[in-house]
Amino acid sequence: MAEKIHSKKSSNAEVKVKVEKKKTEKKVEKVKIRDIGIDVKNPPTEVCNDEKCPYHGHLKIRGRIFQGVVISDRMNKTVVVGWEYLRMIKKLNRYMRCRTKVIAHNPPCINAREGDVVRIAECRPLSKTKSFVVIEVVKRAQ
Ligand SMILES: [Zn+2]
Repeated sequence: MAEKIHSKKSSNAEVKVKVEKKKTEKKVEKVKIRDIGIDVKNPPTEVCNDEKCPYHGHLKIRGRIFQGVVISDRMNKTVVVGWEYLRMIKKLNRYMRCRTKVIAHNPPCINAREGDVVRIAECRPLSKTKSFVVIEVVKRAQ
């Protein structure tokens, strides 16, 4: 019996600690950035004045989300993101390797560089060829 009571107490204490931690995290996020409606593991730590930033501007995110690697960062506030995927060809019963390139907006607070693994989300058309925005850097290039 004694053991059971002990285990119950310890579990309760753990739960309380977890709840407190969550509360503090949420407060910090609310003060700094706008909620974009997507769970982001690495939200930006800096503040920017970009209109087209999903966190500090007025850009709304809707549609599809992809993860890819930054192929080029030469343009101003814009990156080219690409990724590979396999496509089944029924006739040959084999997979074909396909590549996709997408142009995405790169807000100054995120500042993705060539080689970074990033997540991009669809938004309204920002220019003729750009209708995606970088929402987080999953892994920085070394
Ligand atoms: Zn920003």
